[in-house]
Amino acid sequence: MTSTVTTTGATSTVDSLRRHLVGLKMPRALEILDHTIRQLERGEVAPLEALDALLAEEYTGREGRRVKAALQMARLTTVKTLADFDFSFQPSLDRNRILTLAQLEFIDRHEVLHLLGPPGTGKSHLALALGVEAVKAGRSVYFATLAEVIASLAKAEREGTLRERIRFLCRPALLIVDEIGYLPVIPGGGNLFFQLVNARYERGAMILTSNRGFAEWGDVFGDPVVATALLDRLLHHAVVIQIEGASYRLRQHAGLIPENTLARPSTSPSPTAPKRRGRPPKNRSPDQQPNT
Ligand code: ADP
Ligand code: MG
Repeated sequence: MTSTVTTTGATSTVDSLRRHLVGLKMPRALEILDHTIRQLERGEVAPLEALDALLAEEYTGREGRRVKAALQMARLTTVKTLADFDFSFQPSLDRNRILTLAQLEFIDRHEVLHLLGPPGTGKSHLALALGVEAVKAGRSVYFATLAEVIASLAKAEREGTLRERIRFLCRPALLIVDEIGYLPVIPGGGNLFFQLVNARYERGAMILTSNRGFAEWGDVFGDPVVATALLDRLLHHAVVIQIEGASYRLRQHAGLIPENTLARPSTSPSPTAPKRRGRPPKNRSPDQQPNT
């Protein structure tokens, strides 16, 4: 009799548990509930442990789905991680500095991180990896190349939706703009990019990667005035990391590449470019528009 009452009580408690897990949308916990109960019945786990394992299983699944969706939203489809990065291959790079950046305080401070260096030195890898860290930590991220950013701004301008597009690109806490300097910027592109940078200035963090030194940005953007205005915003509250090394892509074929191609870093920060933290030029007001 007693045992029947207990079994009935236990059955109704399990039914109630199931209903709650369904109501709370906890499919994974629901899936492993029977297994957990059997473990409890056999005395294989303590009640608290069982409760924790059930919730941990649900949480892990949920986090995995959240991170996957957020990585897609961020366009971080090529997932690179800091764990995959071989720091010994790039001795000019201060590992601790990168690991400190991975704490993501630069995002809270709305700073700009510049990753500079020749092709293949891991700029995109590090930018993506920091983006992945930010997504995991629950920050919103958006990744695009400079050419993609400018093309989308130019399209929006043609369609009369530039303000909305800029607002969209201001939303993520971290905007990563990859490949500054590889492709020529389309006419008017520098101006459009300036409008975005100005809108994000002191409001959101950015990571920028470039194979060209700041002194060359006049050429990159086809307009020295726009380049100066851009650098004014982008070097204030900035962290500049210069990678001086060999291409990881070419590491197995270095012998086939002419010596001067490998040895000469294509980036040379301008004399005014600070090594760590930028200061705005004293004679410019922060809101001064480029004169274009
Ligand atoms: P960059 O953007 O500077 O041109 P990438 O970050 O795209 O170079 O690196 C080129 C390729 O080499 C990528 O597949 C990247 O993951 C890999 N890579 C570069 N540096 C390293 C490194 N130090 N350790 C591991 N992989 C690296
Ligand atoms: Mg790259």
